[in-house]
Amino acid sequence: MIRSAVYFLSVILLTFFQPLLSQTFDDWFTEGVMRVDLVFTGTAETTDYAFSGIRKELYYSGPRRTLVDPFDYGDHQFLVRDAVSGTLIFRHTYCTLFREWQTTSEADTLKKAFPHVIRFPWPKGRVTLEIHDRDDAGIFQCAWTGILDPSTLYADPGHSQPFEAVDLEINGPPGEKVDILFLAEGYGAEEMDKFIADAGRSADYIFSEEPFKSHRKAFNIRAVKSVSQDSGTDIPGQGIWKNTILNSSFYTFGLERYMTTLDFRSVCDVASNAHYDQIYILVNTPKYGGGGIYNHYSISSADNEKSREVLIHEFGHAFAGLGDEYYTSAVAYNDYFNLQAEPWNPNLTTLVDFSSKWKDMVQERTPVPTPSLDKYRKTVGVYEGGGYVSKGIYRPMIDCRMHSNDATFCPVCSRAIERMIRRHTGG
Ligand SMILES: [Zn+2]
Repeated sequence: MIRSAVYFLSVILLTFFQPLLSQTFDDWFTEGVMRVDLVFTGTAETTDYAFSGIRKELYYSGPRRTLVDPFDYGDHQFLVRDAVSGTLIFRHTYCTLFREWQTTSEADTLKKAFPHVIRFPWPKGRVTLEIHDRDDAGIFQCAWTGILDPSTLYADPGHSQPFEAVDLEINGPPGEKVDILFLAEGYGAEEMDKFIADAGRSADYIFSEEPFKSHRKAFNIRAVKSVSQDSGTDIPGQGIWKNTILNSSFYTFGLERYMTTLDFRSVCDVASNAHYDQIYILVNTPKYGGGGIYNHYSISSADNEKSREVLIHEFGHAFAGLGDEYYTSAVAYNDYFNLQAEPWNPNLTTLVDFSSKWKDMVQERTPVPTPSLDKYRKTVGVYEGGGYVSKGIYRPMIDCRMHSNDATFCPVCSRAIERMIRRHTGG
């Protein structure tokens, strides 16, 4: 039933997406970014979106040849259509912290609001914006629509958080590269030299490991010298509170090492100082922790002895939509994955539709599921345990960068990363 619905949906999607192949960026868009600010409100069971404003930003950095995101990843997608013909002219898939929060126990009893931001190139004419959320069966359902007319919108072109942006490594035009932007969080004005050194070292961490190492030239790296009042970040469990530009904090959803910021609007305000496809928030703290949310942002501490490992792992989440392959730690989510449907992450499977995942990379003689025996340690297979549960979710290798700090990316994760790089470079 679910599978036929998925098939039916993909036929519809293909029909909608097809016309765009013959169209170009210049047919529909002009320079600049239309930034739509919204607010999520909801509980575990309900999601509402409310419109809060439009801004005009300078830097669109995404691929210009493929404006429709080809990956069916993420908990959300937004579609931009020409308001007259209905033609799909832009699609983007992503995740949010709001959606993660909805799976915590707090969301069962409390209604909360989270800021949200959507960005796409500035349209030439009137467009319809549709936001879709994935339902329990994994199907995108339209949750909000709005008509936006660039000729009548009073979009604020001003800059609320102007900071100096620095080029750390430029390998080509933004439309043909993956643009990583480091933001300083918890660095005082006198600590900006440290931040730039930390950002350079962090970039080197990412490119110290395959498959990023072989593709360094596919990336541009920049950094925004965003100044905080205080040094460090909030550690609520220790009663430590800091006044920082991006409002980051440990103990997200009660989990000590889960350092994030719920203030995505401030993140986007600071990031709008430069080109970016991926935001990396670097936090001036030695404490272990971080987070990575697909096409939303990555965040990690700059000075922990495990910063290298955490940084690469979190970037795997945020850049390639990789899921956590571990399942033993105390993660505060309830029923995060529906075991009756395929998770959207490229490196996790419920075996409901394994051929849509890495079945083509499993040799015929490898048993499915694959027992966790030492002789299979270097074999791509289907190992039970992943996505925070020990039963019903399977991962591709016994160990991987998405499973522990002691391994590098498995072949399945590497392929997903390389596919995402190609989406940006057009190669
Ligand atoms: Zn993996």
